Amino acid sequence: MRQKKYSVVWLFLLAFSLIWFSPALGAEAKNVILLIGDGMGPEPVGLAIYYNRFMNGMEKRLNMERLMAVGNTGYCLTYQYGTVVTDSASAATALASGVKTRDAIIGKDHDGRPMKTITDIAHQLGKSTGLISNTRITHATPAAFYAHIIHRDMENEIASQLIERGDLNVAFSGGARHFIPAGTKVEDHPDLKGVDKKAGWGRSGRKDGRDLIQEAKSKGYAIVANERELSALEAKDKDKVLGLFSASEFASAIDRQPQQQTGVPMLSQLTEKALEILKKNPRGFFLMVEGGQIDTAAHRNDVAGVLHEMLEFDRAIGVVMAFAESNPDTLVVLTADHDTGGVAIAYSNYQPPAPLKLSNGETWKTKHNFAEKVIFEKMARQKKSFQKMVEDSKWNAAALKKEIGENTAFAITEEQAASLLAKDPQTGFPVPRDYSDFYSSDEKTPTALMGRLFGKETNTAWAAGTHTHTPVMVIANGPAAENFRGLLDNVDIPQIIARGWGETLPAPK
Ligand SMILES: [Zn+2]
Repeated sequence: MRQKKYSVVWLFLLAFSLIWFSPALGAEAKNVILLIGDGMGPEPVGLAIYYNRFMNGMEKRLNMERLMAVGNTGYCLTYQYGTVVTDSASAATALASGVKTRDAIIGKDHDGRPMKTITDIAHQLGKSTGLISNTRITHATPAAFYAHIIHRDMENEIASQLIERGDLNVAFSGGARHFIPAGTKVEDHPDLKGVDKKAGWGRSGRKDGRDLIQEAKSKGYAIVANERELSALEAKDKDKVLGLFSASEFASAIDRQPQQQTGVPMLSQLTEKALEILKKNPRGFFLMVEGGQIDTAAHRNDVAGVLHEMLEFDRAIGVVMAFAESNPDTLVVLTADHDTGGVAIAYSNYQPPAPLKLSNGETWKTKHNFAEKVIFEKMARQKKSFQKMVEDSKWNAAALKKEIGENTAFAITEEQAASLLAKDPQTGFPVPRDYSDFYSSDEKTPTALMGRLFGKETNTAWAAGTHTHTPVMVIANGPAAENFRGLLDNVDIPQIIARGWGETLPAPK
């Protein structure tokens, strides 16, 4: 009898200590920040980590490594409804609504039913919400957090849905062309005059006369269009801000290195301002930050381009981590929608190192080149994206030879340049002849051939110009972050976040 009493006491103590010491119980994430690297498979993550160590010192750590060190790391399957490989729209729908769908569909399940998003749940709970991307706010990843549409290419309708719902507190990205009346230009719009010419001017993409910027203002939005306007914005008296910084997507990070371009904020600057605005809500917030152009550079098989996008995204991760350190009720989840390109740093037979006399008198010899620091030094010397070099050459072989000579560590002949630009008679595009099925219409430019031509110089090999099946990393820190351990499925991510808030996904809208 007496023993039984004791065991009851012990049971109480045990239960109490479990509640006390387990962060999962009783700890709710007031704020959730979801970081999505578009196309950021483990390969680009490894590329950025090695670059940083070989170039800056073996003891150096990226912000994403610091997040791995303090948080929980898992792997995530990215397949979409019925297929092995995913599209960005279906992947984003999985990450926003916790449901698998068909490629190109946004915010709807495979039968076209509109689904509730994690953004909707945040609003229900009285939290603020924000979306940031260096692509377009109407692009697949951000769109899945507010829009419901059968095809991702319907970006005018996606823009209309954003303003019609009018409940997002922060939307920072490009894509201004989808918000202005048909027949007008971004640079002529009274509220977008600040858009920098180099950031991207351009004509409206709309078919109707709607001025969504005007409609946004009537719904209480402040509008910002460049870095200066963003930094001048007083977060304390603004609760709704629409920032559109270019007509289409931002220029690639490699093409807007500080010495070349001003006016477009870095992802880290956008993140910092968004946090200032969102953190005012005593009930907390949900923020999604997309490093959206890792994918673009990988589609083009431009390894230095991928590296710049990774480092740009990593700086934004640093801002988020600093915020989460001083606001421990913040859950940070870093993942990717899928891998793009299957990039590999591989050993090769090209220029193996010379034999080496070791101190014990033996001679060490190798047949292979296992990639020394010099590959990163070559990547670092690239000053423009492959795509921009092609554009700036205006598809002229002599001009492309010059562009490559001036902006990379490589020299090519005019004949080689001509072969890069030559169109395959069968496909009509300059893509690898043996592999053109793995380059989608958007990537049918000479960049994949450039990736191949220079590949041996940087030990870089590419699997494809499209997305791959490779599982992606999930790294989480903050309240209940241990739920992101092990092998997950992309639909688990918003489901876990929703559950942490006492809600359920997937759910019909
Ligand atoms: Zn893609």
